[in-house]
Order: sequence, then C-alpha cells, then structure tokens
Amino acid sequence: MIDIDAVRADTPACGLVLHLNNAGASLSPRTVVDAQIDYLMHEAMTGGYELAEQRRGQIAAVYDSIAGLLGCTSGEIALMGSATDAWNAAFAAIEFQPGDRILTAEAEYASNVINFSKASREKGAVVEVVPSSETGELSVSALESMIDDRVKLIAVSHIPTNGGLVNPAEAIGAIARSAGVTYLLDACQSVGQLELDVESLGCDLLTATGRKYLRGPRGTGFLYVRDGWSNEPSVLDLHSARWTGAASYEVRSDARRFETWEFGYAALVGLGIAVDYALDLGLDVIEQRIVDLADDLRRYLSGMPGVSPTDLGTRQCGIVTFTVDGVGASEVVGQLRDQRINVSVSTPLSTPIDAERRHLPDLVRASVHYFNTADELDRFVSALGLLTAR
Ligand SMILES: *Cc1c(COP(=O)(O)O)cnc(C)c1O
Repeated sequence: MIDIDAVRADTPACGLVLHLNNAGASLSPRTVVDAQIDYLMHEAMTGGYELAEQRRGQIAAVYDSIAGLLGCTSGEIALMGSATDAWNAAFAAIEFQPGDRILTAEAEYASNVINFSKASREKGAVVEVVPSSETGELSVSALESMIDDRVKLIAVSHIPTNGGLVNPAEAIGAIARSAGVTYLLDACQSVGQLELDVESLGCDLLTATGRKYLRGPRGTGFLYVRDGWSNEPSVLDLHSARWTGAASYEVRSDARRFETWEFGYAALVGLGIAVDYALDLGLDVIEQRIVDLADDLRRYLSGMPGVSPTDLGTRQCGIVTFTVDGVGASEVVGQLRDQRINVSVSTPLSTPIDAERRHLPDLVRASVHYFNTADELDRFVSALGLLTAR
C-alpha cells in the first residue's frame, strides 16, 4: 500500500494543481528537485568536471537504479536526453536492405512512424502495420502469421500516447525471440507506470523518458540494449569509441556506445533519485493504484452525458482519453487549466495510423498517477460536468 498522504506531502505541487497530465510530464517529488538544485549549486562552486569526478559514485548509481527498474545489468543501460534520442539511436543502428520488413502496431507513436517512412524511402524497407484484435491491442496471432525471413525489426509502443491500451509486449517478445528478429519496445509510457522486466518482455532494445511516469527531470531518457545485441551505433564520438590509428577505432561493447560524452549531470542525478523513489514504493503497487484510479475515472466518464471515452484494450492503464460533444479538446483543456486542473490534448498527428483508422479528432487526455486521489477525480468530473452542461 502506498501512503498517499506521504507521497503527496513529498510533492509540493500536489497542493497547487490537480495534475492529470502524467503522460505528458508528471510532478517530481521534492527530493528529485532538491538533488538537482544541490548538484547545480555544487557544480557552480566546484567546477563541472571536478564535481563530476567527485560524484562519480552517485552518477554510476543512476545506471544501477535503472538496471534495477528493468531487471538488467547496468552495462545494458545508456543514458540519453529523451526517449526520442534513445529510440532514434537504436533505430539508426539497424541497417535495412531493400525489401526488409518492419512490423509495427496501429497505435504507434508518430516520431517512430516518421522514421519508418524514412527507412522505407531511403533504404527500401517495407513498413507493415500488424492489425489490432477486436479489443484494440496488437493481434498476437496476426503478428505470428506475418513472420518470415524478411522481417528485420518488430517495433511497437508498449502503451500508446493516445489512450489506455497496453499492448501485449511479452507475447510479442516471445514471437520475436523465436523468430530471431530484433524487437524494439517503446516503453516511454510504461516505465514508471507498469512493473517491467526485460527478460519477460523479451526485447532487445527498450526506450524510455524520465519526465513521464517516472516523475524525473525533463531532458532525461534512457536506452536498454540487451547484452549480445551488438550493432554499431550510426554515430560515434570519443566516449563511445576509441581511435586506434588511421582508419581504425574500437567501439565500446556495452550499451554506453550509444551515448555521447556530454551530460546534464544535475538532471541525471535527479533521474536516479526519481527511479529510486519509484523502486522504494514498488512498481507492483504503483501499477495497481494507477489502474484502479483510471478504471474508476473511465466508469465516471462513461456515465456522463456528452462524454465519450475512446480508450481501447483488454488490459488498460492510467491514460484516459475522451471527447466532449460540442466542446473541442483544446477548449476543454483551457477551461480546466483556468481551474488549475491539468489535462492535455492528444492530437491525431501523435498516433497517425490509429487516428486515421478510427477517424479520431483531438482527444482530451487525463492521465492519472498514484499520487492522485479519489477526491481529485471527483473534482475533475464535476468541473467537466459543468463544461458539458453549458
Ligand atoms: C512521449 C512519447 C515518446 C517521446 O518521448 P520524449 O521523451 O518526448 O522523446 C515516445 N513514445 C511514446 C509512446 C510517447 O508517449
């Protein structure tokens, strides 16, 4: 059980805003903010290189914490500036030949879809969308039937940015493993929200951000690279590789070959604290509380005249999306923000394949976290009720 009063007391912003935009950027615990301020102050007074040396242990511990979160070794983690940086670095390391197939899901994130198109245009890769099952998640049997020797990559978002569905990431991993196909899992919305373990997920590559469900600083992210997945990064520097003479160099063998030399260390230290905070609470209880709150919210919304929930999936998570009859999503978000209630707009362009298939307009996205309360959901639903009644 999470002590809700305690976690809210740890989060100064809980008293100021009703935050339901945790899929955008969550609220950090005070310790995460304090650690960054402390690091910056010491950096200003010590020197950036000198402090990084002094704090070498603290910085190494960030890798260990993330490894603990995912069930891997710290050598399998690269720290990045965002989930997109991580995903792009991983994707760019895959060399596509004409006719190589990329299999993805309908609710894939737009940036990933754009890069699939780029690989198609520039390398002749063939991008294919695995159909969804009736309940909306990727159909495992459809995926199975699409596997052949030309499949080079399976790349799927675990949880899409535009709704509550959870894709069957483990079942996808089992298929990828038995076919010997690289599996890149975009876990940007699931890290910090669901209990994850890369062994059971069966992925070779996993990407995540710090600021969403992990409640870490902006400008942080990471990439998991399974030990044994040995592709060379598409770009290198003196941190990821060592020059060994004319036209010759050695690339690091661990995941850090995907990093470059420079980091915002204050943010990295904050990320480590955020991961430890989540681990201390326990990802299993975090997940359970988020799922329960989101289920309640969906039930309230489905009983409201003029409100239409749009979430798919048999298994659902903390992202709740809906439309309001006669009131545009931006209008809803603006009106609520005036009352210090934070929700966001999910536009069709963020998940273009799914949005086109379902003819989705802009959606209102209310993404709950474990520190939200039943009272807050009541307040949110009443405020929404007044909007729909106009
Ligand atoms: C937010 C998001 C991303 C991008 O994360 P950044 O940290 O902004 O790069 C990628 N995939 C999904 C599913 C997301 O929701």
